[in-house]
Amino acid sequence: MDPFVPLGRVVDDQQRTCNYSPSNSRDTDCGADGAWHVMWNPQAEVSFACDPHMAEARARFVFVGAHPVGPDCGMPGALWDIDENRCVHPDSPAAESAEASAPLHVQELV
Ligand SMILES: [Zn+2]
Ligand SMILES: [Zn+2]
Repeated sequence: MDPFVPLGRVVDDQQRTCNYSPSNSRDTDCGADGAWHVMWNPQAEVSFACDPHMAEARARFVFVGAHPVGPDCGMPGALWDIDENRCVHPDSPAAESAEASAPLHVQELV
């Protein structure tokens, strides 16, 4: 069984809102400001989560990494720095990181 969180549709990452969505539709989106930036799986699929939904994800799922939302999170061209556990723009020094792919929607956490 796949231990990673099930991911649904692609959403606009630049809003940086919680991507939790129980039925994977716009109507059920959490929509709270994202407090956490999460890399859900080894395919480097990332999205944002608010505090309560991050806590729920931590309790229920395996994921690659998570860090508090920073200035470069979700920005075009920003890279996920695995070692520093934050997002950096490639222009910044020490941007040796996995490229974060298009964000996907987290669904059916409940
Ligand atoms: Zn949420
Ligand atoms: Zn980030």
